[in-house]
Amino acid sequence: MQNRLQTPNDMPLLAERIRREGRSLEGGILKVDSFLNHQIDPLLMMELAREFVRRFEGTPIDKVLTIESSGIAPATMTGWLLRVPVVFAKKRRPSTMGEAYETEIFSFTKNCTYPVCISREFLQPGERILFIDDFLANGNAAFGILDLVRQAGATLQGIGILIEKSFQPGGTRLREAGIRIESLATI
Ligand code: 5GP
Repeated sequence: MQNRLQTPNDMPLLAERIRREGRSLEGGILKVDSFLNHQIDPLLMMELAREFVRRFEGTPIDKVLTIESSGIAPATMTGWLLRVPVVFAKKRRPSTMGEAYETEIFSFTKNCTYPVCISREFLQPGERILFIDDFLANGNAAFGILDLVRQAGATLQGIGILIEKSFQPGGTRLREAGIRIESLATI
């Protein structure tokens, strides 16, 4: 994939993997199944997590949130380094889940709206949250998570994104809403 490095903040390690292994699909979708969305490279994930920890140093974080499924690997590595729990929002509400915060997210890759929920047990008032996700496109997943965080009375301290797609408006929308985003590669 021809990926232009657009910001000096790009991590060369990740940009190089995207360039080497990424495949551009129709509709502006990037396929990175060889290290992120199907097969996972745990060494790369750990390096990316280290970079998130470096960038958010000095920002108090009580918990890492993500959405199943591809955010779980980098979020878990980040939680391990920060020594905080990692919670993933579920796309289907299990019958075993008690009271939950719920919202709906529109997925442009799947062209549908899906519900996501987090048990109230695992998102508490006052908690300071770092949201980690694989891609940032239109920002719908991130705004959905922000909704859940606000419902809980918690605070979103920032967002860590592996691959930000600058040709879609999510990054601008979120930054205009005053949210701090750290993206490790921009395409
Ligand atoms: P957004 O909610 O920002 O519009 O899209 C973010 C979500 O859509 C991510 O969690 C990711 O799962 C999916 N996504 C968006 N763009 C891409 C892409 O180019 N490739 C892949 N594999 N997933 C994407």
